[in-house]
Amino acid sequence: MSKNFDVIVIGAGPGGYIAAIRAAQLGFSVACIDEWKNAAGGPAPGGTCTNVGCIPSKALLQSSEHYEHANKHFADHGISVSGLKMDSAKMIARKDAVVKQNNDGILYLFKKNKVSFFHGRGSFVKPVEGGYELAVTGAQAETLTGKQIIVATGSSARALPGVPFDEENVLSNDGALRIGGVPKKLGLIGSGVIGLEMGSVWRRLGAEVTVLEAMPTFLGAVDEQIAKEARKAFDKQGLKVELGVKVGEIKSDKKGVSVAYTNAKGEAQALEVDKLIVSIGRVPNTTGLNAEAVGLKLDDRGAIVVDDECRTSLPGVWAVGDVVRGPMLAHKAEEEGVAVAERIAGQHGHVDFNLVPWVIYTSPEIAWVGKTEQQLKADGVKYKAGTFPFLANGRARALGDTTGMVKMLADAATDEILGVHVVGPMASELIAEACVAMAFRASSEDIARICHAHPSLSESTKEAALAVDKRTLNF
Ligand SMILES: Cc1cc2nc3c(=O)[nH]c(=O)nc-3n(C[C@H](O)[C@H](O)[C@H](O)COP(=O)(O)OP(=O)(O)OC[C@H]3O[C@@H](n4cnc5c(N)ncnc54)[C@H](O)[C@@H]3O)c2cc1C
Repeated sequence: MSKNFDVIVIGAGPGGYIAAIRAAQLGFSVACIDEWKNAAGGPAPGGTCTNVGCIPSKALLQSSEHYEHANKHFADHGISVSGLKMDSAKMIARKDAVVKQNNDGILYLFKKNKVSFFHGRGSFVKPVEGGYELAVTGAQAETLTGKQIIVATGSSARALPGVPFDEENVLSNDGALRIGGVPKKLGLIGSGVIGLEMGSVWRRLGAEVTVLEAMPTFLGAVDEQIAKEARKAFDKQGLKVELGVKVGEIKSDKKGVSVAYTNAKGEAQALEVDKLIVSIGRVPNTTGLNAEAVGLKLDDRGAIVVDDECRTSLPGVWAVGDVVRGPMLAHKAEEEGVAVAERIAGQHGHVDFNLVPWVIYTSPEIAWVGKTEQQLKADGVKYKAGTFPFLANGRARALGDTTGMVKMLADAATDEILGVHVVGPMASELIAEACVAMAFRASSEDIARICHAHPSLSESTKEAALAVDKRTLNF
């Protein structure tokens, strides 16, 4: 017997579970199917983000940051530590506990919102009158029928051709988040967000980290001035980054991994490491969906083809998050999930892609929203720029972290804020003010005229706004 629902969501990552909750709030009967298993084989909703992405990486970044502070910076505050030790097994166990709290939290939210959860793989069977029949296989076997289907199956790490992840020596994000002890030498292929965050964790704990990047520029998507500032800080920390490399043969055995590569000058090089993290992008998860059975259109990357409003090629089938175009970010997936649930209810869900903030949780943190200076130049937009260094901010001095700056870009004629870029302490939190300002189409003068608490890092955002008009007060 098939169980019938108004809305069925496949995938309980941030795109899927949020879409399911919003649809239930709007009065629909909702099912959500997810196949992720915890170590005991039970359900672990939350997707990549909760299990092997945003949450566990931030847990490890926090632990390793505490260690680095105790090791290198406590002395500046007059605190001496002797016998400092790192228990990596405990750090990993704490991270696992944080993940479990989030898994359990989502199961609780499903119950609270009356979303029926099915643990197993969801796949299309056939179109039926007024909807689609889906099969749940695996932990639970069920047949479900839904009037509207939201596909939120996410993405998985891309492996180098011919070099599969063994999660022992050659690691994806999954293995990188559960390395048993601190490797002496760690190699990283790819200097994107995930690679830099993982490299930071193990560098802080004592690993010698080398990053090999194929692109000739460091953090190409980031505002050039900000990327340069970040690079300076990473160099100082001892993170080795080689740009413009071409990776060749990779050999892995019990002793470790050797990577043959050609450097930017065309010279043959070899990197010998204990572990290698490969972080070269992610592949949309569409293989288990049986998309062919219903004729769901995929592009040549295997991503589900959608329009601006997340409608797929099939009526009543939507797709959100990493499995579709656009930035692979949890909050982008969530926004799309909410917007789709609202569209199904006949409302006007909306996602402004220009206002999706980006964050890299290294130290210094890097965060931005809107356009970079190089994008404005390429688009021929006339703009004014203002920067303010944390070096001149009282709170940053008190924190002992004065690296970086806030940079604001505003339209030369209207003064509307077009982009805000932060490299420095708590950039991930500071960027929220910029998102709010830009959502209300604020001018730099608006921010400059708003009273900001003293002493706070946020005063740097106000000062960057003043700098747009060449009238900083503290620099
Ligand atoms: C190491 C790392 C760190 C990251 N850090 C951040 C960060 O700090 N901030 C940020 O915004 N983003 C971060 N991301 C990216 C973020 O995790 C993803 O953008 C986000 O998880 C995408 O959400 P989603 O719902 O589209 O898919 P996912 O989170 O991938 O969830 C998809 C779910 O669907 C399930 N599934 C797939 N196929 C089926 C099927 N056929 N049937 C049933 N279930 C299925 C999967 O098992 C999974 O549970 C990080 C990613 C990684 C790898």
